[in-house]
Amino acid sequence: MNYMIKTIGCQINVCNSEIISDMLVNNGFFEVKNPEEANIFILNTCSIRSSAEQKAFSYLGRLEILKMKNKKLKIFVIGCMAERLGNIIKQRFKTVNLVIGNKDVKYVIFKIVSSFQHIDTKNTLVSNNKIVNYIKIMTGCNNYCTYCIVPFVCGNEHSFNFNTILNRCSMLVRRGTKKIILLGQNVNSYKYGNVDFTMLLKQIARINGVERISFMTNHPKDFNIDLINIISNEPKICTNIHIPMQSASDRILKKMNRKYTYSNYIKLIDNLRSAIPNINITTDIIVGFPTETSMDFKKTLNAVQTIKFSKVYAFKYSPRPNTLSYNMIDDVTPLEKKERLKVILKESNKISVEILSKMIGSVQEVLTEDIIGDTIKATTRCGYKVFIKTLDNKYNYLGKQLNVKIKTVKINSLIAEII
Ligand code: SF4
Repeated sequence: MNYMIKTIGCQINVCNSEIISDMLVNNGFFEVKNPEEANIFILNTCSIRSSAEQKAFSYLGRLEILKMKNKKLKIFVIGCMAERLGNIIKQRFKTVNLVIGNKDVKYVIFKIVSSFQHIDTKNTLVSNNKIVNYIKIMTGCNNYCTYCIVPFVCGNEHSFNFNTILNRCSMLVRRGTKKIILLGQNVNSYKYGNVDFTMLLKQIARINGVERISFMTNHPKDFNIDLINIISNEPKICTNIHIPMQSASDRILKKMNRKYTYSNYIKLIDNLRSAIPNINITTDIIVGFPTETSMDFKKTLNAVQTIKFSKVYAFKYSPRPNTLSYNMIDDVTPLEKKERLKVILKESNKISVEILSKMIGSVQEVLTEDIIGDTIKATTRCGYKVFIKTLDNKYNYLGKQLNVKIKTVKINSLIAEII
């Protein structure tokens, strides 16, 4: 039985798709990359922006055509959009067999596979022998940023059992994983009994065989001094930190319900930079939030220039039904949003290249994570992507920490050679 899985959206969706994929493989299914060869098609959807939903609708349109040719094809739609717009999907696309919202992945797997054969769910949390693996440590969010759909489709914050997470880390390490990436909408507020996020990191770092630990996403209001200290003191913790700023205008931050001011944010950045040398800070920015003036935007642009993020993920604001900002007047014109996005991206790309260019000629310790064609993909401890050109015995290097010399820079990545 062949399956294909298409993932739209964030790393949490990628993580869920990987777990589902691994479970299907463990149950004798084969992954294919060509939809025409699939017996099962799983579309893992996202609701965070209307563009993500439009992408899913257009995918479903293409699958309808495919199903005309292959009437036995089973189509399953999962993820946040399935939760939010499940009924609409069922009405518009009669070809879809099952729409499953944000349920536990075990349940998703069970529903998908049980229509074909007996399922063994004991390995639900197992991933392939990958060097890097994701572990979801929590779901949902309590923050209710006014633009965000997550609390409405994923529910309130819920942290997973601490011991289960540790067991999962140990199991992945036994299967060859070297780097664990912890995922949650706001990992900083992880709390299971008395165990908070800092304690969780400490315990994972004690597991033999875990070489690197990374995590996302963070919330500036919950990023405390204990967390800064552990990143600074524990060499296994990677120093790439993603801290969404969203805006540098206090008025807009308040309207977004972000619960910090720009001066709180900049203080956090200063604390991080003084405690952690070589830290690599990335961020999210929304341009064109309701009532954002050109002065508000200028503050955000100035912040990008001052803070010098190594990467900015910038998006145009789009009103999402059911969110708190949906009733605000979306008064920044599409043209202004487009222009502001262009300006932010141009500036941030320029800064990224400046930061990476300073690394040319330096020696970096990298973890080799994957082989892509004739190139080894690796990352530095502070999360920069490094590509190392062909070596005859490239598979011998996989999963190793190596010293490489940085030769050149591409947008958002480095090219290196082994020394
Ligand atoms: S912190 Fe805000 S933006 Fe992030 S998931 Fe929660 S509500 Fe959404």
